[in-house]
Amino acid sequence: MKRFLVTTTPLLDGIKIQEYLGVVNANIVIGANVISDFAASLTDFFGGTSDSYQKRMNEMYESAIKELKRKTMLMGGNAIVSFNVDFDELSGKGKSMFMLSATGTACVANLNEDIKLSDNGSIISADNVKRVVEKNKILKKLSSHEALTASDCNQMLANPSCDYLEYIFQYYYPIFRKDGNLNYSEETKQLVSLLQEQEVVPIVYKYYPQNKAIAKLIIGCSLFDPKSVLDLLSKDKDLAIDVLAADKPYYNMEDVAIMEQIIKGFEELPDIATHTKGKLGLFGKETDIIICPYGHKYLPENNCCPTCGTDVRGLTIDDREIVENFKTKVQVIKKELSGN
Ligand SMILES: [Zn+2]
Repeated sequence: MKRFLVTTTPLLDGIKIQEYLGVVNANIVIGANVISDFAASLTDFFGGTSDSYQKRMNEMYESAIKELKRKTMLMGGNAIVSFNVDFDELSGKGKSMFMLSATGTACVANLNEDIKLSDNGSIISADNVKRVVEKNKILKKLSSHEALTASDCNQMLANPSCDYLEYIFQYYYPIFRKDGNLNYSEETKQLVSLLQEQEVVPIVYKYYPQNKAIAKLIIGCSLFDPKSVLDLLSKDKDLAIDVLAADKPYYNMEDVAIMEQIIKGFEELPDIATHTKGKLGLFGKETDIIICPYGHKYLPENNCCPTCGTDVRGLTIDDREIVENFKTKVQVIKKELSGN
């Protein structure tokens, strides 16, 4: 038999993908009466209490895989990556149907002889399917703001995935907790720490502008990313300031170069104060004055507003301290790296 591989991951360890052919999908619909009480028992299904459900489910699953394989082979492929399976109940007109949707990316992979394949040529395991189904159930809960149970959280931590993080940031308050409360939590931090840093960073910075609480996560989990912060600075200096104290696990000279650009960016922030002529106080002479971004008037000889401490770039005393600390940190890193 020709070797064929199905996997839930986007990339295959040790296997080179020569060509991506496109997404393939299959829907298998079955009447709920065929499997009585099927929907009601779905929750218990994976407890393994009922053999007939298990059997029926496996059949649906096998048909879906078969269909995906058929489509992939027609396209000239020999592997499916990012395989995903989902279940949905369709009801209407007093009838209830059950649908299994499977999708995957068809591709041509260099399948060398070292990879062990099962009898039917695919390497997906029942455990794997169970995990994907469980994962999709949790993602659905997250997208509908449903409280998660302790077992959901355990499941997320046992099989960590960036998909969870996307959903947490996008649909939920950025945080999930075992007690269902929406707050910054150890569990979120734990989930982040279980994932690959290079996978987490793009997701974190993608959602941070719309979800400011993520700043805490960036600091708490040492997810400082020079490129992303430089990009934030060009859009909104406050977003950059809120994560400027964050660290990254290791720094190299490339990081230093970008961090120096960040410092330069702060120094070159535009003057947003109003420079005008006016009087200070009732009997003051008409002279050059500055109006700070918060509306306080002061004389140009002060380098920041004496009332609120904001300078012409709109940086507060605290902001300037954060930027100063960042400068010091960059100097230290640079010195250590250059061995002086
Ligand atoms: Zn002021």
